[in-house]
Amino acid sequence: MNKDKKHTDIYPQKDTYPVETMLSRIKPVSSDSITEENSQRPKILIIYTGGTIGMVENPETGTLEPFDFETLIDNVPRIKRLDYHIDSFQFTEPIDSSAMTPAHWQDIAYVIESFYDMYDGFVVLHGTDTMAYTASALSFMLENLRKPVVITGSQLPIQEVRTDGEENLITSLQVAAARNAEGKPMLEEVSILFENYLWRGNRATKYSADNFDAFKSNNFPRLAKIGMGITFREEVLWRPKENAPLKVHYGMDSNVMYLSLFPGINETMISHMLRTPGLRGVVMKTYGAGNGPSDSWFLESVKDACDRGIVIVNTSQCDNGTIDPYRYKTGSALFQAGVIPGHDLTSEAAITKLMFLFGQGYDSDEVKELMETPLVGEMQK
Ligand code: ASP
Repeated sequence: MNKDKKHTDIYPQKDTYPVETMLSRIKPVSSDSITEENSQRPKILIIYTGGTIGMVENPETGTLEPFDFETLIDNVPRIKRLDYHIDSFQFTEPIDSSAMTPAHWQDIAYVIESFYDMYDGFVVLHGTDTMAYTASALSFMLENLRKPVVITGSQLPIQEVRTDGEENLITSLQVAAARNAEGKPMLEEVSILFENYLWRGNRATKYSADNFDAFKSNNFPRLAKIGMGITFREEVLWRPKENAPLKVHYGMDSNVMYLSLFPGINETMISHMLRTPGLRGVVMKTYGAGNGPSDSWFLESVKDACDRGIVIVNTSQCDNGTIDPYRYKTGSALFQAGVIPGHDLTSEAAITKLMFLFGQGYDSDEVKELMETPLVGEMQK
C-alpha cells in the first residue's frame, strides 16, 4: 500500500494523528505477572470496547448500559482454568457499538500495533450491532497480520444466568491461543466468533437481533468446526502472501454512503443523494444480480456522479450470491454508466473498503481498481 499519498480526511494516518487523544480513550485494566515457570503459557490481550456482553441494567431507566471490564471479567471465573496469560485494555468509556466510529477502529488498531509482539493473539469484546463493520475495517487496516484477532460479544449480558457471553469469550480465547504443530498461530486474520461459529470478519454480517447465533457469512464457509473440540478448516483460512511485518494503516475517509434502491425511488432523492457535498464513494444496493431501474433520469444521474469521480460499487440486496454485471440489460446499463461490480462483498466490507482506500489517498481510478481486487479474502471475483 502506498502510504505517502496525499489524503484529506478526518480520520488521518497515525503520523498526523494526535496519539494523546487516542490514549485518553483507551486504558490498560489488568496485567498478569509473567514468571519463569509460566512464561510458556499463551499470551492473549483482551480489548474491551463495550457492547451487551459487559452491560448492566440501569435501575432507573431499565435500559442496558455499558459497564467496566472488571465487572465483566469477575463474572467469568472459569477463565482462570485456561491457564493463559491474559492482559486487558478497555475503552475508557465503553460504548454501545452503534456509537462506533472510524476513530474507535483506529484505537483498537493502535493497541494491537503497540502490543503486537508481546501477545500470541487478541480478543476484542464488542457490541454485535456494528461488529461486522469493525471486523471488516480492521481486516483492511492490519496489513500482513500474522496473529489471530478474534472479535466477540454476546446477545445477553454476562451477568445474566442464560448469558451466551461466557461461552463466546472462553471459546474466543481458545481460538486466539490455538497453534499448529509447528507452533504457529492457526489464525492469521480478523475473525468473528459467535455461538460456536468462527467467521472471516470481512465476510460476516449480523443477521439476527435475538438469536444466539447472530452472525452469518452468506458467501463464505466457517473457518472452524467448533463442537467438543475446535477443528480449523485449513483449506479456507486466510494466509498473508508475504512474510512481511505488520503494517497498520490508520487513514479512513468516511465520505461514503449506502444507496439502497426500491421500486418508486425518484429522481429528486437520487440526485440529492449523489450530490451530497464531499461524497467520494457509494455502495449501491441493487436488486438480484445487480439490477436497477432503466429510466434515463436514473442512469443519467448515476453516470453524472461517476463522471464527477464518485466511485459507485454495486452490491446486491440479496444476502447470498454475486453481482453479475452482464446477466440483464438493466444491470449492464449501470456498468456502462461507470458503476463497478462489488462481486460478493458484504455491505459492511464494501463500505469499509471504500473508506479505507480513500483514506489511504488513492484517487478514484485507483479505488475502482482496488475495489475489484481482493485484498484480504473479502471477496471472490
Ligand atoms: N446494542 C448492542 C451493541 O451493539 C448490541 C449488542 O452488543 O449485542 O453494542
